[in-house]
Amino acid sequence: EAAINRIAAGEVVERPASAVKELVENSIDAGATRIEVTIADGGKTLIRVVDDGCGIAADDLPLALSRHATSKIDGTDLLNIHSFGFRGEALPSLGAVGRLTITSRSGAGAATVQVTGGRMGPVTPAALTKGTQVDLADLFFATPARLKFLRTDRAETQAVVDVVRRLAMAEPFVTFVLRDATGGDSRTLFRADGETGDLFDALRGRLRMVLGRDFNDNALPLDAEREGFHLTGAAALPTYSKGAAVAQYLNVNGRPVRDRMLLGALRAAYMDVMSRDRHPVACLFVDCDPTLVDVNVHPAKSEVRFRDPAVVRGLIVSGIRHALAGAGH
Ligand code: ADP
Ligand code: MG
Repeated sequence: EAAINRIAAGEVVERPASAVKELVENSIDAGATRIEVTIADGGKTLIRVVDDGCGIAADDLPLALSRHATSKIDGTDLLNIHSFGFRGEALPSLGAVGRLTITSRSGAGAATVQVTGGRMGPVTPAALTKGTQVDLADLFFATPARLKFLRTDRAETQAVVDVVRRLAMAEPFVTFVLRDATGGDSRTLFRADGETGDLFDALRGRLRMVLGRDFNDNALPLDAEREGFHLTGAAALPTYSKGAAVAQYLNVNGRPVRDRMLLGALRAAYMDVMSRDRHPVACLFVDCDPTLVDVNVHPAKSEVRFRDPAVVRGLIVSGIRHALAGAGH
């Protein structure tokens, strides 16, 4: 069974950035308002995620670490099951490919448990004032073949920064801190304090934070609907020239995705107002009934498959054009 778990785990956890994504998504699901991520050596030796969310009760810790047995699935959070794909896989997978320690507090007491190479130790009392701390050390130590496919620490670190930035854009009200603790130092790689106001205010503030001075703050609010798909978010005029990777954020049912069709629609929407060396600046949220989108295309990839891609494309193109036109462009 341990071998099967390791194979399945490789599907979910491709690299440090995918582990960070799973852990931070769990913190978001737990209602955290502050999420601190620490990595060392590109995430290969350490990934630590600390949150102030609802925590896990001591009795539930073993369950949270068992494949397909997690509370969210038999709970009432039906939307989560459909929207966020492969459920109940992340923690068991991480425990199969690294040395995982979870310390959490829910209610009265805190408890901790360790899983190494798929083997779970006893749940013991611990000290923690709030939330959850997950430590994942020595990722892929049990699967050396997978280790060989990792890129340089620098490249893996950059992938982690990218994942955290995308999650931070998807959750503008939450505070995110990402630190690099390689060699015992502590260097801040990314920081975004929780925004306030309505969603558009918050997105604008976060875009300003993420893009820095190159963002000239001309973002326009998006709000459009078509055949069961709802588009919200912020779209700015393409005055930003640094590169598409840091300027375009796509979210489907609340989660960041990187989808070619959606990116194509975004580019098409800007066609008339965009000069060649500029990139669209936008953070889009497409929300729909979970039955209208398949987010399970691949557990580790963030592709999605809409039942009717043409409708979504049309919604994005017309929604953005309408907003830009309203601003006189
Ligand atoms: P899933 O998120 O699909 O339910 P995971 O393996 O990622 O599966 O997590 C298992 C369960 O552990 C979650 O359903 C949740 O109940 C609990 N959990 C994991 N991380 C946290 C966290 N940071 N805070 C509170 N509960 C958590
Ligand atoms: Mg999860």
